Amino acid sequence: MEIVTRFAPSPTGYIHIGNVRSAIYPYLLAKQNNGKMILRIEDTDRARYVDGATELIEDTLEWLGLNWDEGPVVGGPHEPYFQSERKDIYIKWAKKLIEEGRAYADPTSPEQIEKYRKECTDKKIPFLYRNFRPENPPKWELGLPLRFKSEPKSYEWQDEVMGEMSSGPEVLDDIILIKKDGFPTYNFAHIVDDAEMGVTHVMRGVEYLSSTPNYLALYEAFGLERPKLVSLPHILAPQGNKKLGKRDGAKSVTEYRDDGVLAEAMLNYLACLGWNDGTEKEIYSKEELIKCFSVDRIQNSGARYDENKLYWYNGQWIRKIFDEKGAEALYTRTKDFWPESAKEADDDYKVKVFSIIYDRLKTLSDLRSMTDYFFKEPKIDLDMLVKNKFLKKMSESEIESLLKLVVRKLSDINKWDADSIQAALNELLNETKKKPAELFSLIRIAISFAPFSPALNLTLEVLGKETSLARLNAVASAI
Ligand code: GLU
Repeated sequence: MEIVTRFAPSPTGYIHIGNVRSAIYPYLLAKQNNGKMILRIEDTDRARYVDGATELIEDTLEWLGLNWDEGPVVGGPHEPYFQSERKDIYIKWAKKLIEEGRAYADPTSPEQIEKYRKECTDKKIPFLYRNFRPENPPKWELGLPLRFKSEPKSYEWQDEVMGEMSSGPEVLDDIILIKKDGFPTYNFAHIVDDAEMGVTHVMRGVEYLSSTPNYLALYEAFGLERPKLVSLPHILAPQGNKKLGKRDGAKSVTEYRDDGVLAEAMLNYLACLGWNDGTEKEIYSKEELIKCFSVDRIQNSGARYDENKLYWYNGQWIRKIFDEKGAEALYTRTKDFWPESAKEADDDYKVKVFSIIYDRLKTLSDLRSMTDYFFKEPKIDLDMLVKNKFLKKMSESEIESLLKLVVRKLSDINKWDADSIQAALNELLNETKKKPAELFSLIRIAISFAPFSPALNLTLEVLGKETSLARLNAVASAI
């Protein structure tokens, strides 16, 4: 049997970190089994529809490399993949239920329903519409809600993550299938679509677990075989015991992309948020995830979102790609992250800068704040020099003569490379009897006026002899 999964987002805004995992697991399961993942856009809630959201969803999936096999853009045998364009299909299925006496028009006004609801609250009993089901409902036509005629009974089912589940008759109700506006509800549309599209595994957020008995009743009414149900536990907000949501500052996936998080790192982190393969392994490429993923190792409790962990993965991936594919391969992905001052710099020079700084980057956009002094003269800030914790014991004249000594030593270097520079620096340590922290902080600050720089000999090498000496001289004269 071919495995068919789906990601079925509602285009109500950007996809944030908390819900993109519902795309990753269906993708992994499908690919692992040479099956298919369908992308279906569930846009029947017109009040919550946001223009452009579908494109953002597609963009996010493409960036993460979660290529869907059927759906918008790529098409497929079950077109259309937008629920709003599938109204005829839902009506056809709804009519089957009407003919079998399992669906009826609901003439009750919202005010009346409110009254029923209040009656129940007053009596402290749960409100179930089926207890107020009209005896002689009118013939159904568009403009009237259509409801399912439920039969109270108990269910047992297997959830692939949550285990054996059961429910009593009190959770079943006459749910709305088609709304007044003619659009189907999620509850109805997804059953029809999953069946029409041959979906074998319904993987979605655990919030749908409580409605599952109603879905089981619909499968039964249609004589459908139940697909495998896989409830994905919530991703929890960094604090408290609640689901990560936009209100907790859950950023969109594309925002992280634009901040310089690599797709590999994002995919790796999210896949491992609430899943592991039983080993200590943490770094997985997409191919490795496809190989190792298994539904039965998805944990059944919520996993807490931790942005720092995402950045940790990003650092790991930056180094991994650099080491495995080389500086240039990664450099091609840094285009949008350089400071303004690097605009005119040539690629060779930028690759050199990148090669000495890549292993300090949390995100690629750190290049912006960390590399400015490679491209333009830093502003001399004597305060930064004299107040540095290693230098504040020295007098200004001592600093000045030390700088002059450094200039003389470095000027003598014939072959300006990292090793010769390091040798000269070591000699300077011997001659001056200064500690590395003192001498190197002095040089580092004088050439960069930045809070941080890569290894000193490498920084000097990349800056070049002329620039390095000019900067050191300029600081010596400014003191
Ligand atoms: N459209 C639903 C949502 O965005 C999808 C649930 C499902 O995957 O069936 O929450």
